[in-house]
Amino acid sequence: MNTQETHPNSAPSEKQEAWRRGPIPEHPWEHNNLNDVKLNAFWASSAARHPLSAWIRERNRNDITVWEQILPDEDEDIDMHHLLQTYAAYGAFGIGDVRTHLHAALLMREMPRFKELALDFGHINQAMLAHIYRELRDVPKEKLAEFEEALIEMFSPFTQAQEVPSKRRVTNRLRRLKISVLESDEEEEEIDPPARYLKTADTPRGGTVLKIGLEADEAREVLAAIESVAKREGIELPDAFLMLMRQQTTATTILNIYGPDAESPACLEGDIWLCKARRQYWAQRVDKVRDLPELKDFMVEGHDPREGQKAIVRGRDAHCRAPGCTVKARYCDIDHVIEYGLGGPTTVGNLQALCRKHHNQTTDGRVRVFMDQHGRCYWHYPGMEVVVTVPEGPLAEVKDAHWGKSWKDWSAR
Ligand SMILES: [Zn+2]
Repeated sequence: MNTQETHPNSAPSEKQEAWRRGPIPEHPWEHNNLNDVKLNAFWASSAARHPLSAWIRERNRNDITVWEQILPDEDEDIDMHHLLQTYAAYGAFGIGDVRTHLHAALLMREMPRFKELALDFGHINQAMLAHIYRELRDVPKEKLAEFEEALIEMFSPFTQAQEVPSKRRVTNRLRRLKISVLESDEEEEEIDPPARYLKTADTPRGGTVLKIGLEADEAREVLAAIESVAKREGIELPDAFLMLMRQQTTATTILNIYGPDAESPACLEGDIWLCKARRQYWAQRVDKVRDLPELKDFMVEGHDPREGQKAIVRGRDAHCRAPGCTVKARYCDIDHVIEYGLGGPTTVGNLQALCRKHHNQTTDGRVRVFMDQHGRCYWHYPGMEVVVTVPEGPLAEVKDAHWGKSWKDWSAR
């Protein structure tokens, strides 16, 4: 892939170049047996060698303990607004922050085993707990046990130096579960559709902001159409929007839906989980069905991956594979993990989604990445710890999917 961004020090030094082209490192974690890997799994954030890790874990544990201690009992007769104001003053917080912390504590009280796990590893911060609370607030209490189980699984490490799940991974997993739990319900709970509206607001510089409330999938379709015109014409998004609106152009958009069939949970573009009604709507519009097992092992004789391969990589990765980066896969380049010029094949098992910035970082040789057959990416930074990122998209949920070759196979090539 070509790179557009340039770096002030983009020419790699000789030492960098040697490191980059060096042999694939002998890895102590190379196991083909997943159970062995699981037994020795740990979080990258548990790497006690760094003081930052230790401090953050301690802070996360303290947060959970303290907020639990000052959370009122359910049947306590209490003036909530008074309490929020008092805590805000004592802790120098905003009232909204206090509310979020209390909700997180309440959630932990209802999920005692998940709380125990969080206290054990110290890997879950208040922002993540608030995120989990927001995802689960419309789940009836009696159904929380299933979600607790999913959270425990998600927040238990299954490989070494594993990056703690991102909010996107949590959203993906919980929304999929929410659809299967709520839809399997006898009386089938109605999920309220999002508000539809069209509003305008004046801006200080004489402009107007146009706000349209739509279903998430509808909004994605609109955005994809505008983006495709902007890209084709080389113009800004608002101009592309106007061109479309004035019928001066047309747009062809491709949206991918990941799911086994029209009856099961399905995900649009790697991050929008569709309810039954929306799945039925899209089932009418699908004009191409791709088979995962077939394309997964397919190899192109050349550098450029097929559209189907790109769709699979985006569905597996959901976002950029660099540690800590959450640029959506639809905005990412599809990168050869082992460079094509060095013999890396164009196959899903050797392709990953990388944002432009991190694509450049790997191309420049400032970091080395290896992917194993489970789609896990091992990021080797010179002179630093290895960090492992695991795929977080809807296709990563496919049980026992093998995405490519093991390192041993690579070395043998
Ligand atoms: Zn990135």
